[in-house]
Amino acid sequence: MARNLSPKCKLCRREGVKLFLKGERCYSPKCAFIKRKYPPGTHGPKGYPKLSEYGRQLREKQKIKKIYGILEKQLRIYATRAAKFVGNDEEILLRLLELRLDNVIYRATFVSSRSMARQVVNHGHLKINGRRVNIPSYQVEPGDEIVIKEGSKIFKKIKQNIEANKGKIKPSSWLEVDSNKLAIKVINKPLVGDLIQDVNAKLIIEFYSR
Ligand code: SF4
Repeated sequence: MARNLSPKCKLCRREGVKLFLKGERCYSPKCAFIKRKYPPGTHGPKGYPKLSEYGRQLREKQKIKKIYGILEKQLRIYATRAAKFVGNDEEILLRLLELRLDNVIYRATFVSSRSMARQVVNHGHLKINGRRVNIPSYQVEPGDEIVIKEGSKIFKKIKQNIEANKGKIKPSSWLEVDSNKLAIKVINKPLVGDLIQDVNAKLIIEFYSR
């Protein structure tokens, strides 16, 4: 599956916000957005331009793509699906993104970034309800049980990561995490308060309904 390979810190600087794409580095003074709080480019520091309504919608959808590490086509599919379901389109869109398998691994604090979570999934290190799954976009359902295969190379690394994150980041409340067995149970779908807060999903829905 294709993905955006641009330098991650440039993505944050382009959007003018911290997108937390690089794990621990994002919480340290080494964060490029702290050091260079202006858009990337060869002509030196420039401010962020004033945006039109269309510009705001465009930037918001670019931002969410970067946060979840997905491409245009995938986001468009999510937006179309959200419009088909009965309910609030914005919440449904964000919920569909939250329920991606790679995001669940990240939300369980097994790894410190979604790109690492994607690697864990891609490399076939986990099973869902006893079946091997290696599709990062797989939509989990309440009741699903996700387990990292015990013999897998990544097992020790994830344990170290959980230990390092203890007291700093908590797993999402809609997940039940067993950090000894490296098992996750999806208790229910994320509620409104569990969804990503720093994205204006209304602008994204508006962009795709033009
Ligand atoms: Fe963004 Fe800072 Fe993390 Fe780089 S280190 S990805 S600029 S939040």
